[in-house]
Amino acid sequence: MSLFNIDQLVAKSSIVPKHIREEYKQKIHASQKDINRLRQKVNNSNTRLLTGGLTLSIVQSVYEDNIKKFGCLTCIICGKPITFSDDSLEHNIPISRGGKNHYNNLSVSHLKCNHRKGDMTLIEWDIEEATKKLLRKL
Ligand SMILES: [Zn+2]
Repeated sequence: MSLFNIDQLVAKSSIVPKHIREEYKQKIHASQKDINRLRQKVNNSNTRLLTGGLTLSIVQSVYEDNIKKFGCLTCIICGKPITFSDDSLEHNIPISRGGKNHYNNLSVSHLKCNHRKGDMTLIEWDIEEATKKLLRKL
């Protein structure tokens, strides 16, 4: 029997004092929230993987072609080398804006750079960065 079921038994048992039953009810409620949060996370990542049919061979091609093009794994956003575990799959057109997991929409970037870029396209990001540089010079 899992802990979750024991919690449910305690929460429902008439021989357990009411204040303890209440404590267990809250505990179960919190666990249920965590479970729902995890389910949502799994659903989101499944949706992302299924959108446009991302496959291991596509990811492999994107990484290999990046290394062939730049000589080492290089961030498409900042142009600096990437160490493994600091890498992320970059969507030139973000999924949130209709981008797909197709080879032509994918690149490799630093995780931080990808987060900074957010839901901008690569072109929008480049324009924004160039504008910031110009404004700094004024
Ligand atoms: Zn970068």
